[in-house]
Amino acid sequence: MINNCDRSAWIHGGECNCPNRLEPRKKAFRFVLLGAPGVGKGTLAALLSEKLKICQLATGDIFRNLKQLPEEELTPALKTSLEHMLRGELVPDDIVIEVVRDRMKCLNCPAGFILDGFPRTLKQAEALDEMLAELNIELDAVINLEMPIDKIIERLGARRICKICGAVYNLVNRRPKIDGKCDHCGGELYQREDDKPESIRVRMDIYNKLTTPLIEYYSKKGKLLTIDATIEVYGVYNEIKRILDSDGYMPPL
Ligand code: AMP
Repeated sequence: MINNCDRSAWIHGGECNCPNRLEPRKKAFRFVLLGAPGVGKGTLAALLSEKLKICQLATGDIFRNLKQLPEEELTPALKTSLEHMLRGELVPDDIVIEVVRDRMKCLNCPAGFILDGFPRTLKQAEALDEMLAELNIELDAVINLEMPIDKIIERLGARRICKICGAVYNLVNRRPKIDGKCDHCGGELYQREDDKPESIRVRMDIYNKLTTPLIEYYSKKGKLLTIDATIEVYGVYNEIKRILDSDGYMPPL
């Protein structure tokens, strides 16, 4: 998948130079992706981003990027975030909300957005509602990807990511052509610190406790679209298109 968006404004803060902002379009799409770690939110976000020419805004990318920053650039709040992330725990709500607020112009993009990994708690969902109300925009849908837990654990343990371009592989069902190397750019593949078994268990417990209530929250608002994520990503895209896109704004695969 070719991801055309330049997410530097999202990941690092600052000005946006993303070509998606300028792309002529009939409709903006504003999605939130929900689903336990490992259900394929990132893969779906990348496909939606490519097809609809909108940016994938993943809060996990912001926090992972902190690892690259020199110590002196980390504020106390960002240092705390990094420590939580490396333990597989959620970053405290106040910090995440402030980080997203600092990047509110990405939410206000004329292209729309795909929020991946935010909100993750009720407090974050309420904060997002406030931000959208301030911008006078609404979500099109909250896409909830569902998958049985044993399948999720198997997938997460086998996930590998390219150090250079971020492409995602799976040693079970999406192997790279050459072991340990990215098919797209030849970059080295690595396993995320929080995809190791000890962290996976912590992340699943947290998801069940804190994020599952969002399903009811968005269902009550009439925004929830639950999809079986055991089917491959193109099937998920077609399902979203079938249900949400009666006007035909989403391009076919
Ligand atoms: P992800 O790639 O979405 O699984 O995020 C990786 C890590 O970043 C998580 O395990 C958390 O430590 C942190 N993180 C990302 N998004 C959030 C969020 N919305 N709330 C709290 N922590 C987050």
